[in-house]
Amino acid sequence: MRGVCFYGKEDVRVEHVPDPQILNPRDAIVKVTSTAICGSDLHIYGGYIPTMERGDVLGHEFMGEVVEVGRDNRKLRVGDRVVVPFTIACGQCYFCKQDLWSLCDNSNPNAWMAEKIAGYAGSGLFGYSHMYGGYPGGQAEYARVPFADVGPIKVPSTLSDEQVLFLSDIFPTGYMAAENCQIRPGDTIAVWGCGPVGQFAIRSAFLLGAERVIGIDRFPERLTLAASDGRTEVLNYEEVDVLDALRTMTGGQGPDACIDAVGLEAHGTTLDAWYDRAKFSASMATDRPHALRQSIAACRKGGTVSIPGVYGGWLDKFPLGAAFAKGLTLKMGQTHMHKYLAPLLERIEKGEIDPSFVITHRVGLDDAPAMYQTFREKHEGCIKVVMSPDRPSVGA
Ligand SMILES: [Zn+2]
Ligand SMILES: [Zn+2]
Repeated sequence: MRGVCFYGKEDVRVEHVPDPQILNPRDAIVKVTSTAICGSDLHIYGGYIPTMERGDVLGHEFMGEVVEVGRDNRKLRVGDRVVVPFTIACGQCYFCKQDLWSLCDNSNPNAWMAEKIAGYAGSGLFGYSHMYGGYPGGQAEYARVPFADVGPIKVPSTLSDEQVLFLSDIFPTGYMAAENCQIRPGDTIAVWGCGPVGQFAIRSAFLLGAERVIGIDRFPERLTLAASDGRTEVLNYEEVDVLDALRTMTGGQGPDACIDAVGLEAHGTTLDAWYDRAKFSASMATDRPHALRQSIAACRKGGTVSIPGVYGGWLDKFPLGAAFAKGLTLKMGQTHMHKYLAPLLERIEKGEIDPSFVITHRVGLDDAPAMYQTFREKHEGCIKVVMSPDRPSVGA
């Protein structure tokens, strides 16, 4: 089959790779109909994620049709149309039973790698390095789904791929970020980063009862998309002083909660290299740690800072003193995907949200190498790329 493979920094190729096989009795094989490139894939593309190997199949946002089912899988049948969550969970361990699905103890066979860094490891992830389990990803024609009697959710034929695909990551991730803000009626929420996760955090904040949501970014097309709901207020941080603006907009008090949907996913192969690369990335690429510091500075006293943006290492100049002085609550972590799939599918079915609003590019799998670059450079107003293995190359 064809798969989008990692070959090194800024080197992504569509190659022929072995078809996936059922390895465990609860597995399923999914024929991928739609898959997306995630902002976090760009950190792999940039060479920042340790334990990636040449030829690894990328992608953790995908959906499709079940074509093979392991003998102990009683939930799925051949022909089912499913969306697959990007975190892999067993459904039986202490953490899965606590609804802390992204902390599953049984889905990362390489947990020792993550334990060296964090003490304990989170769950396995599709297409996201050997440190997270080394599972081939879903930017391919087929994918093996472990614990497929726990993760994938069946989706009705009345909804298109584009309406449900983002249940695989960015919709639940934005939603959990908003939920972590413990929103009460009348609240004002500020969101740093209006990329795909930020867009879903904004819409989710309104779904959860926020009165005002303020999106912060520097790309006009992202700000325009955020404001296209007719409710979201936006700030371009290249044009205004964000702290001053937020203070003015909130009567001098600050937003009730701040969401950092920017993140800093800079890693390395050794602890010191990881640290160095984090610093390198932070100073060379964007203002990423700056966004977290600013969200802590902007938040009202007693408020919440919610962090869906992924952080990897040791942050420099982290203003814990300000967070302490203001009595802030910090909430963060990989999304507990499995908890959100059914309720968010229900919101889509009810028409409360149509997640396809973030899509700017629709291409074939063979367009992946060009699209990774387009997405990374934010060319052509690129916000979210969807690829379909069956769609002919658009020659991007
Ligand atoms: Zn993602
Ligand atoms: Zn588990």
